[in-house]
Amino acid sequence: MKCYEYQAKEVFKKYGIPIPKGAVIDDLKKMDDVIEAIGLPLVIKSQILTGGRGKAGGIKFADSSEKAMAEAKKLLGSEIKGLKVNKLLIEEKLEIANEYYLGIVTDRDFSAPVVIVSSMGGMNIEDVSKRFPDKIMKKNIDYAYGLQNFQARALAYSTGIKKEDVDKVVRILMALYHLYKECDAELTEINPLVITSNGQIIAADGRLNIDGNALYRHPDLKQYQERTLEVIIDEEARLKWVNLGGDIGIISTGAGMGMAVLDQVIAAGGKPANFLDGGMGLLDKGFKVGLDLIMKCGARAILFSAYTGGRSDTMASKFVEAIESFPALQIPVVVRLQGLNQEEAIRIISNCNYKNMHIVYDIDEAARMVVKLAGRGK
Ligand code: GDP
Ligand code: MN
Repeated sequence: MKCYEYQAKEVFKKYGIPIPKGAVIDDLKKMDDVIEAIGLPLVIKSQILTGGRGKAGGIKFADSSEKAMAEAKKLLGSEIKGLKVNKLLIEEKLEIANEYYLGIVTDRDFSAPVVIVSSMGGMNIEDVSKRFPDKIMKKNIDYAYGLQNFQARALAYSTGIKKEDVDKVVRILMALYHLYKECDAELTEINPLVITSNGQIIAADGRLNIDGNALYRHPDLKQYQERTLEVIIDEEARLKWVNLGGDIGIISTGAGMGMAVLDQVIAAGGKPANFLDGGMGLLDKGFKVGLDLIMKCGARAILFSAYTGGRSDTMASKFVEAIESFPALQIPVVVRLQGLNQEEAIRIISNCNYKNMHIVYDIDEAARMVVKLAGRGK
């Protein structure tokens, strides 16, 4: 789960990382009060889930109320890098003396956190590593011991962070590491970490991605999760659902199976209405919820493809029960199913009351058939 900058900064604050004075708005009516509270000059920052907002015109500066209002009006509701701006973070403008970079990211190759420090903050870190490779250092951290103070100091010194700033940077990096660990983060980043002209250290930008599978143990972070249709469907029926806009409904067990079936349907000239990975959710209310969603997409045919690890006859019974509970459903349904007790499973499906059912063995044959039955294809 990616957090917005203002959310990342709320978390930073809890961990003792200083952030600029600021407020979030989703309505221009609040601008007057916010300008009053924060003072001038100020920064207006589009809240979108991507970096590089500065270059793309998503970050504006204002030294008068009129300018602030005009910029906020332009940004709120606009699109930056293809993303709709629904919220603005209004912050005091910092007098920047120095900009540094701190990042911690989960390194899959090492199965460990990697800490990244650079004395060249404020620019894209990929560019820094190409253009100033000696100004950036990475270190894999042993998860059992955690980041040690001496390691943080060594990193700060070796990247060329000014001597008088090292203590401050180390303190922030240690706090950031605690945050990364305690919040089950996959990535956290401060770019730029600013030293102001009067020597204060402040996180001017913030990124925080939390491991979605760990959200259950962080109720305070879970409230940041947007209640999209996909999230609600996953929570309520344990289905991974993605709308794809076509007219062939897909139900599959496992993400790999789902992707393979989508490929086959597209290769046969069809357009999938959705991706649906049911998994164990199908043994609960997954089929009913999935069929309901597929019908709402206006699908012209459905393909159910399963390779079950457990008993496929149990899954077949659940499938038949769901199909029979939708009297309005009349479109062709193609089934291909393999797994433990598959003969019994096929028998259960063949015996169901649904008239427009077609059972096939091969995936590609099933895909060609569903495309044909939908009245599509080559
Ligand atoms: P990003 O482009 O999405 O990474 O957004 P940032 O929050 O990093 O803002 C882009 C750039 O604007 C930063 O790298 C800073 O150089 C600059 N910036 C952001 N906030 C301030 C501020 O308060 N004062 C000044 N002078 N510059 C700022
Ligand atoms: Mn930034």
